[in-house]
Amino acid sequence: MGIEAYDVFVIGTGTAGKSVAKACAEAGKKVAIADNREFGGTCPNRGCDPKKVLLGISEIMDSARKMQGKGIIKMPEFSWEDLQAYKKKFVDAIPAATEKDLQKLGITMYHQSPMFLDENTLSVEGKTVKAKKVVIATGHKPLKLNIPGIDLALLSEDFLNLPKLPKSMIFIGAGYIGMEFAHMAASLGVKVTMIDMASRPLTNFEKAIVDPLIEAFEALDVDFIFNAGASKIEKLQKYFRVSAKQGDKIIEAKAEMIFNTAGRVPSIDELDLEKGKVSFTKKGISVNKYLQNPTNKNVYACGDVSDSEGLPLTPLSSFEPKTVIAQLLKDKNNKEISYLPQPSVVFTSPQLASVGLLEEEAKAQGYEIVVEEKKNLNWFNAKRINEKHYGYKTIVDKKTNRILGAHIISPQAGEMINLFAMAMYSKLTTDDLKNMLFTYPTWGNDLRGWFDNSIE
Ligand SMILES: Cc1cc2nc3c(=O)[nH]c(=O)nc-3n(C[C@H](O)[C@H](O)[C@H](O)COP(=O)(O)OP(=O)(O)OC[C@H]3O[C@@H](n4cnc5c(N)ncnc54)[C@H](O)[C@@H]3O)c2cc1C
Repeated sequence: MGIEAYDVFVIGTGTAGKSVAKACAEAGKKVAIADNREFGGTCPNRGCDPKKVLLGISEIMDSARKMQGKGIIKMPEFSWEDLQAYKKKFVDAIPAATEKDLQKLGITMYHQSPMFLDENTLSVEGKTVKAKKVVIATGHKPLKLNIPGIDLALLSEDFLNLPKLPKSMIFIGAGYIGMEFAHMAASLGVKVTMIDMASRPLTNFEKAIVDPLIEAFEALDVDFIFNAGASKIEKLQKYFRVSAKQGDKIIEAKAEMIFNTAGRVPSIDELDLEKGKVSFTKKGISVNKYLQNPTNKNVYACGDVSDSEGLPLTPLSSFEPKTVIAQLLKDKNNKEISYLPQPSVVFTSPQLASVGLLEEEAKAQGYEIVVEEKKNLNWFNAKRINEKHYGYKTIVDKKTNRILGAHIISPQAGEMINLFAMAMYSKLTTDDLKNMLFTYPTWGNDLRGWFDNSIE
């Protein structure tokens, strides 16, 4: 049997890998793609989309709880089992639909992790294949903590597929995934404990908006154990026990389920990158401004796995492939990648969202800034739904009046932040925002009002 040869070999079938493979095949290249799991990647199979479907019910429960005594007489009843069945309808179709899509374009599919044999040669499914260009788009995977009993801990995807909700859960790690899942569980009646090494959750978000979120969690009886590194997990008769070192003390917490939400790392250890002369760091595959690997110029990386300026979020895993595709198709107009403002959201209730610089970052970059900060703002939109936790922090360049960073806690922060992303992209000033007409009463209109001192 001869060696298979391809113009482009893509590793990973998520948002990033799929986009590159499809564009190259459409342009007439001979393309292969490989994945060692179900096709379609993290977001639709075990990330954003199934999470958002499940959140549908916890958001309803949360809103109803806030309106008790204000029109809601009895809390709605929910069925986790029915919700799971509904979620399955969205998820189950993804792998086959992805394969069908790729097959239609004549893309060869492999269902295993390829390994580099040399700079242009891979081994996959027992075959040796040659590729003029290799694109690594293998995403992130959960960080495995190096502590005894870690295999007893479940992962975010186990949460998404839970057949039944237990009475108690512990989350090790209060980043955005831990916080979202903890909030969902707590608002559905699960007793939740969160353990984190840091002194607060969501350390990459402004403290000004995280503090009110902690209050919202505490109102749901969530316990936080901060400055505590999990050191051991044990199975007891009915519960699991986590021990954590907090200074000189050992703290213990028990629950029916433990989740490891301590972070995600690049999925690169199965690829034998050294043999392919592909350089990498702890943050992923090293790339230049064309997302090309500096030590093997025939290799590109995009999406979560690239050690680029892009955040590990779905919008970036659609944005980065554009540069890689333009390189592979020799588009003369291709330029160095230039990142747009990158908004991010934490889907708790209320939500947190952020775009642009933190106050500290703006100062470190030498900007002279105007900082506006409001906590637990008592404005109509929040009042009418009895939401106590509503606030923002904006960082504006004093010289140009343009927004450098916006940070919001609100039930609709995820939507509001898009307006800020648009304002930053379009280089609008705070006066531009103030002078626009938005619909009333809406959260977007509040954002306009933040810059208008005549509104209280
Ligand atoms: C629980 C959860 C919730 C999330 N929620 C959000 C959200 O609300 N909003 C948002 O923007 N982002 C969210 N994300 C992040 C988002 O899912 C990722 O940023 C996005 O899916 C990355 O796309 P990608 O194509 O780079 O990688 P992925 O979609 O992860 O695709 C990588 C593919 O490569 C495969 N692979 C890995 N290693 C190998 C190997 N050695 N060989 C072959 N194949 C391999 C994987 O199986 C996978 O199919 C969430 C993630 C998680 C885990």
